[in-house]
Amino acid sequence: MSRSDPSRSVLVTGGNRGIGLCIARAFAEAGDKVAITYRTGEPPAELTELGCLAVKCDITETEQVEQAFKEIEEKQGAVEVLVANAGVTRDQLLLRMSEEDFSSVVDTNLTGTFRVVKRATRAMLRARRGRVVLISSVVAMSGSPGQSNYAASKAGLIGFARSVARELGSRNITCNVITPGFVDTDMTKVLTDEQREAILGQVPLGRYAQPEEVAASVRFLASDEAAYITGAVIPVDGGMGMGH
Ligand code: NDP
Repeated sequence: MSRSDPSRSVLVTGGNRGIGLCIARAFAEAGDKVAITYRTGEPPAELTELGCLAVKCDITETEQVEQAFKEIEEKQGAVEVLVANAGVTRDQLLLRMSEEDFSSVVDTNLTGTFRVVKRATRAMLRARRGRVVLISSVVAMSGSPGQSNYAASKAGLIGFARSVARELGSRNITCNVITPGFVDTDMTKVLTDEQREAILGQVPLGRYAQPEEVAASVRFLASDEAAYITGAVIPVDGGMGMGH
């Protein structure tokens, strides 16, 4: 994986909004060929302007993942950099959490990531190179009341990534995890002012992250400079998770 490559084939899941859109923009502006997946609605016009390929795909459906990869391979070549970003929350206190609340979040965040990583690494193994970056969360390690489903799914990504890193390291494929703290996106817009204040009180830097700050770390992990980093968990959390 070399930045001297004219451009790499990058895939960002859930790249139609929020952190994923920002990551897609960062790679596209750096000259890479970027595909994104979206699940609902229409992808924003900005993606067309950036020259990104938008492919509809629900990562809970193995067949849709397969079709999306086929389309991406045809149109921009096999994926060399995979950013598994798509994720959901379905917050509820444990005693009120249904099994569906729990399993649907795990099916998207953890099993969905498994589906895309498994599919992407097929070609990376043949090419003997590749970069995989998973978007987890600070709550993977700290836990979070009302988010046992989400935190469990995000913690699972760490064990998953480290196993992939050990399995595929000899083929020059790295697999790393980013654990963002609170980022200003649709996902956190639902929080009340009271919840926001409480969260900010736990952030040494005293503010939310901008999605661009997460995107910069993703790009670093996909760069030549990060060739010797694998199985790492990189916090982008304003210091919120220190000690975990
Ligand atoms: P958003 O809610 O803004 O975006 C979520 C993205 O995931 C959307 O593109 C959505 O598609 C996609 N998605 C959800 N479910 C599926 C599915 N089944 N198949 C395919 N795509 C799906 O979230 P953020 O941008 O805030 O979050 C991005 C990632 O960062 C997530 O994994 C999240 O857990 C993580 N994160 C976010 C933090 C934050 O504070 N915002 C903090 C820490 C981690 P669609 O638009 O179609 O629904």
